[in-house]
Amino acid sequence: MAEFLNPTALRGVTRLLVMQPTAFCNIDCDYCYLPNRTDRTTMPVETAREAARFIFDASLNAPDFTVVWHAGEPLVVQPQWYRLAMAAMQEVAPQGLGLPHAIQTNGMLIDEEWCDFFLETGMRVGVSLDGPARLHNARRKTRSGQGTHGRVMRGIEQLQRRGVPFHVISVVGRPTLEAADEFMDFFQSHGISNIGLNIEEIEGPVHTSTLEADGSQQAFQTFFARVIERASQAMPVIRLREREDLLACLESPGFGTFGHNSQNVPFGIVTVSVRGELFTFSPELAGTTHERFGDFGVGQLPGASVDQILVSPAFRAMWPEIEAGVKLCRESCLYFDICLGGAPSNKLAENGSFNSTETMHCRMSHQAVADAVLADLEGRMPRFERAPATAALDKISP
Ligand code: SF4
Repeated sequence: MAEFLNPTALRGVTRLLVMQPTAFCNIDCDYCYLPNRTDRTTMPVETAREAARFIFDASLNAPDFTVVWHAGEPLVVQPQWYRLAMAAMQEVAPQGLGLPHAIQTNGMLIDEEWCDFFLETGMRVGVSLDGPARLHNARRKTRSGQGTHGRVMRGIEQLQRRGVPFHVISVVGRPTLEAADEFMDFFQSHGISNIGLNIEEIEGPVHTSTLEADGSQQAFQTFFARVIERASQAMPVIRLREREDLLACLESPGFGTFGHNSQNVPFGIVTVSVRGELFTFSPELAGTTHERFGDFGVGQLPGASVDQILVSPAFRAMWPEIEAGVKLCRESCLYFDICLGGAPSNKLAENGSFNSTETMHCRMSHQAVADAVLADLEGRMPRFERAPATAALDKISP
């Protein structure tokens, strides 16, 4: 199948360039799938330049192309390093193209200097926070086992005081499902109005999830329905990423015609490790290993090219199997137009093969979310006793 791909066909396909400035993380969450979390190496600035050159030389960048700094704790690296790396990437970007940057942080190191940097660069900030202290501290801990909630909240308060826009990403495990109101009370009372939910996944070296417990899918759907309700009742309204993404998908003029998502199309997401190794498909594959796919790396910077990657053994092993899995999903799943064939990393971790369909991840993150959002929309639709035009006449009647 790789024969059918060529560099021209791949132009404009990359929406995310995920950059790992360091693999090191200053905390030790017990559901973390990232390997090498004690490795303090920092990416050379030249690798950042080469990563951008790789994208732009092949015109891979999509109209909504974004650079995301993630994987390891990115604030361990100093603001000045980012200034240099961002400038180097901008130097090789096409003339007139401003590069949007985003960062996903555990929030522990946010201080005045970082706030200055975020305001100066316009970098979009995501903070990992699992809700109230009781839920957050149960999983997100320091290496000595202490909860991290207090320090993360100090960072968030600093962002709020300085007017730095941010969103929160919360990992949802089974205990959270029983606490929808406590979860939403917390965000509402702290003025946090933009949240995304990641389910506690089985991925890479993480082989278990609290969501494997019996009844979790139904519990997730009940939880999510309540979260939607609370988010829309909140003042100001809480923006819920899953709801917004689904509505954007349904409203898209191309709805029903798309064949892949960013994780299962080649180069939809490109990930660059701290040592310049290139990955594509799910970013979660980076740094993990598999008996058939090795370390999932498809190339090495500097020097890698799209032509070389398309004929590399790693790419040729992964792509036909991923494509077969997407085809199976397309043929068998009612939710295909919303999910577009799922995440290869979840399929491999849960089903043992890219060439497979349903996972716990997709049943919750796509199927249950879609059911809850559509049920909510249906509940809001006005129910007319009479034809709408006739009802409207009442408004101008005396
Ligand atoms: S919801 Fe699951 S089974 Fe359906 S398309 Fe997505 S990954 Fe495939």
